Amino acid sequence: MHTILSECPHCHSINKLVPEKAKSQSPVCGKCGKNLNLHGLVSEVSGEGFRKILKNASGPVVVDFWASWCGPCQMYGPEYEKASLGNPEVIFLKVNTETEQALASQFGVRGIPCTIMFKGGKEVARQAGAMNADQVTSFVRT
Ligand SMILES: [Zn+2]
Repeated sequence: MHTILSECPHCHSINKLVPEKAKSQSPVCGKCGKNLNLHGLVSEVSGEGFRKILKNASGPVVVDFWASWCGPCQMYGPEYEKASLGNPEVIFLKVNTETEQALASQFGVRGIPCTIMFKGGKEVARQAGAMNADQVTSFVRT
């Protein structure tokens, strides 16, 4: 069965989830039992969680680099979330550039929002600026 990976915001364990189940019930962490706080199928990850997921993912991974003070990021969030529900074969992640500055600079993220697509652990595409859900879908399917 196809699974996606998510980082627990409480204990930081990496959880394997079946997308169809994760959509219909709010999934809890297999280790600490707390809510994984998914937005759609989007998991907010730390730098460490991001590296683990990228290493262990069997399929494509997409990341939205964002910040809470960024207006376009606020508008983009729900569109990105919507796209995650329509593309369960892709692992959708979000990285807060305020708390994960080292990761953002490692990937050369200058403007936000910045969406980066990875396949086999390597960057294959990036898009600066907000998109709507359809544009995100085209982006992750390229
Ligand atoms: Zn946990």
